Amino acid sequence: MSTESPKVAIIGGGVAGLTVACVAVSRGARVTLFEQKAHGGGRTFSFLDPVTGVELDNGQHVILGCYLRTRSFLELISVYTRLTEKPLDIEWRERDQELSSLRVANGSKISLALALLRQRHLGFLDRMYLLLGLSRAGRVKPFPDECVKDWLDRPGQPRTVKKYFWNPVCLAVMNESMENAVGTKFATVLKKVFFGSGNSSSFLWSSAGLSTLIVNPAMNYLSKAGATIRLGSKVESWKFDSSSATVSIGGESDTFDFVVSTVPPWNLDTLLRSDLGIPYKVSSILSGYVWFAKDQNVSAPLTGCIGTTVQWITWKGPRLGAVTVSAANELDDLGKKELEKLVRQELTDLLRIDPGEIERVLLLRERRATVSISGLNKIPTVPGLIIAGDWTIPELPCTIESACESAYRAVDRIYANPVRA
Ligand SMILES: Cc1cc2nc3c(=O)[nH]c(=O)nc-3n(C[C@H](O)[C@H](O)[C@H](O)COP(=O)(O)OP(=O)(O)OC[C@H]3O[C@@H](n4cnc5c(N)ncnc54)[C@H](O)[C@@H]3O)c2cc1C
Repeated sequence: MSTESPKVAIIGGGVAGLTVACVAVSRGARVTLFEQKAHGGGRTFSFLDPVTGVELDNGQHVILGCYLRTRSFLELISVYTRLTEKPLDIEWRERDQELSSLRVANGSKISLALALLRQRHLGFLDRMYLLLGLSRAGRVKPFPDECVKDWLDRPGQPRTVKKYFWNPVCLAVMNESMENAVGTKFATVLKKVFFGSGNSSSFLWSSAGLSTLIVNPAMNYLSKAGATIRLGSKVESWKFDSSSATVSIGGESDTFDFVVSTVPPWNLDTLLRSDLGIPYKVSSILSGYVWFAKDQNVSAPLTGCIGTTVQWITWKGPRLGAVTVSAANELDDLGKKELEKLVRQELTDLLRIDPGEIERVLLLRERRATVSISGLNKIPTVPGLIIAGDWTIPELPCTIESACESAYRAVDRIYANPVRA
């Protein structure tokens, strides 16, 4: 296989696979992307709602200013300018209480500190603890296996601060409870979001759905660059020798210099024909769209809900809210009717509206939304095989950013040794 540009097979057409493909093509590689489903995007996609014709995401995806790799990828496929940057702006609600909002005027640490000090539903001492707790994120590292709760408990964060700040932030960032989430990853994210440069804590909003924003432009970029995209193509097996790799689908096979796998661990197990022997846990997300008969009286694009099963409402418009329940494994066994009843009841209370104002609820469940894994170093190394995907970055939780980060690292590995002959 001695040619000047590497020939690369990419398995999986989610964000990681699309990013590997686009970046590798931009650096001159000959790329074939295999995706088992009929559409790309993996866990990041959108679809047309059959009732309203509106493009809806498979669940609300937040992209933050500190997502530097994601931004590079979106710039590469010329869609970054379609995002609108908005400062962090959350109105908190609890069933029977008006709470103060969290508005960070700009990306500076001073405006963050002022915003935290204005959290008047917390007592003065609690606000001081919160400021100290956050500043500590930049200085005191969690122990390797320490969970978020134990890390926060070391200097002692009061119960109220955990309830009104750390718990919602941890669920949103990690998709896991404070007891289950890995402290080191949480600390890294806090540092990036709150102590990064300029707009790192800003939200990057898109009025278009995820497929229109990311998936379709990435596919177009690849087609124009001459890459081969094979949708509906499940890779069944692979074989590696000292200079090449063979990828097989049905009776067909093709040979490459490198194979980049971006599939989740449960699919990788099958391809490696072995039990990875690495324990991983999956965490689900329950998402929903709620249509209201009247404009809702909210003061921020994001409503943080305290003490309810629904954790966040992202306002897509005055009459359409996207609800999110992270770490929703306990709800996995509830039927959709029961869940809808719960969501309707909670939103009626939180927004103080008449039940009849909720016109329609559409619920979406992603049982394997994110993965947490330990012992990444136990994955067997096979010359020519590069393993990427959101779950492969030890210092980050599973997000679009970790998917993109893994992709850039994968391409760097290819170009560290482009020809394996
Ligand atoms: C509801 C929900 C909300 C989320 N919210 C956020 C958020 O707010 N912010 C954020 O940053 N992240 C969020 N995430 C996480 C984010 O979606 C994922 O981290 C990211 O999409 C993972 O991308 P990936 O390419 O690594 O994996 P995947 O998207 O899982 O892609 C892997 C692909 O490989 C394919 N595949 C598997 N086996 C084979 C095979 N043998 N042959 C061919 N193809 C195969 C699969 O079909 C899939 O398309 C959310 C996820 C969900 C589900």
